[in-house]
Amino acid sequence: MTALTIRQLTKSFGPVQALAGVDLDVPAESLTAVLGPSGCGKTTLLRMVAGFLSPDSGTIAFGDQQVAGPGGTVPPQRRRVGYVPQEGALFPHLDVAANVTFGLPRAARRARKRVDELLDLVELDRRVATRYPHELSGGQQQRVALARALAPQPSVVLLDEPFSSLDAALRLSTARAVAQALRTAHATAVLVTHDQDEALSLADQVAVMREGRLVQVGTPDTVYSSPTDPAVAEFVGAAVLLPGTVDGQRAECALGTLTVAPGSVQGPAQLVIRPEQIQLSRDGGNGGIVARVGEVAYFGHDATVRLHLEPGGPEVVARVMGARTPDPGARVRLSVDGVVAAYPSTN
Ligand code: ATP
Repeated sequence: MTALTIRQLTKSFGPVQALAGVDLDVPAESLTAVLGPSGCGKTTLLRMVAGFLSPDSGTIAFGDQQVAGPGGTVPPQRRRVGYVPQEGALFPHLDVAANVTFGLPRAARRARKRVDELLDLVELDRRVATRYPHELSGGQQQRVALARALAPQPSVVLLDEPFSSLDAALRLSTARAVAQALRTAHATAVLVTHDQDEALSLADQVAVMREGRLVQVGTPDTVYSSPTDPAVAEFVGAAVLLPGTVDGQRAECALGTLTVAPGSVQGPAQLVIRPEQIQLSRDGGNGGIVARVGEVAYFGHDATVRLHLEPGGPEVVARVMGARTPDPGARVRLSVDGVVAAYPSTN
C-alpha cells in the first residue's frame, strides 16, 4: 500500500527552481531516504509534505486523501505528520516526559505508561523522563524528538537530516536506534540526507535527487549496483569510471574483458566499477593486468588502495580487507569480480 503519493511537484523561489516535477511513491510502513547534495531541493520537498510550504503545481496525497493540489491545501496541524528536524526540536523548559507527550490530548499528557512505552521504543532509559533537554546528549535529544514525533501515531514521519549535528560515534548508534524505532512503530517515514552511507544503510527505498528532480528511486542495492547514470554511481558510493567498448555482455577496457549486464548499451561506453569489485593478488608476475600500488588509506577493517596500471594506464581505486593491504610500491595483479555497469559514452 502507498502511504504517500507525490505527483509532478514543482516549486520556484524567484528565479530558483527548487523542485522541477517530483514524482514519488512512499510505501506504507517503510523508510524512504531522499538523498542528494546541498541545495538540490530535499528540504523544500519535505516541508511541502509537512504543509509548511505550498507547491506551485502538482499534488501530494496521504493514502487517498489529497493534502495539496488543485483542490486546496490541508494545513500542517491537520496532516497528522511527525517532524524531526536537525536539532533543537525539544522545548527546553519541559522535561522529557512533557516533551514526548506534547502532541497528545491533554488527558494523555505525561501518562507514565505512555511515556515509558515511547522511551522504550527509542531505546532510552525510562529514568530520563524527568530530565531536561540540556541534561541529554545530542543523540538522546534526537531520540526524544523522534519519540515525540511518533507519540500521536502520525500518518508519516518526516526527518530532516536528523543526525547531521551528531559526532561520528553517536551518529551511527542514534541512526540505528531511530531506524529500529520507526520499524517497531510500523511508521511510514521519509528521511532527508546528503549522507550516502546513512541512506543506503537505513532506508528500504532510496530516492536520489539532483537539481530539483528525482533521478533514481529504488532499493539501496539497486541504486548502488545499477545506478541510472555515472553521476548517480559516483554520488552513492566510490566508483571507478573507465572508457570501454561493449559487445553483447562483454566490455573491453584497461582492466581487460569485463562482464556487463544483459541489455547494456553497445559500442563505445563509460564503465562503472566499484572499488570492492577490483581484486588484487600480490604476485606481480607476467601477463594479465598489472599495476603498481600508489597511495594506501588504511581504515582498519578495510583499506582503499590507489593503483597505477602498467604500463602507463589510468589510475584506479580498489577496496581491500585491511589485513590484505599491499604495501605502496608493490606490483600486484588485478581482476574484476562481477558485473559492471555501462553507460553511453559522453564523447
Ligand atoms: P541542504 O541540504 O543544504 O539543506 P536542500 O537539498 O535541502 O539543501 P533546499 O533547502 O530545498 O535544498 O533548497 C533548494 C533550492 O531552493 C536552493 O537553491 C535554495 O537556495 C532555494 N531556496 C530554498 N528555500 C528558499 C526560500 N525560502 N527562498 C529562496 N530560495 C530558497
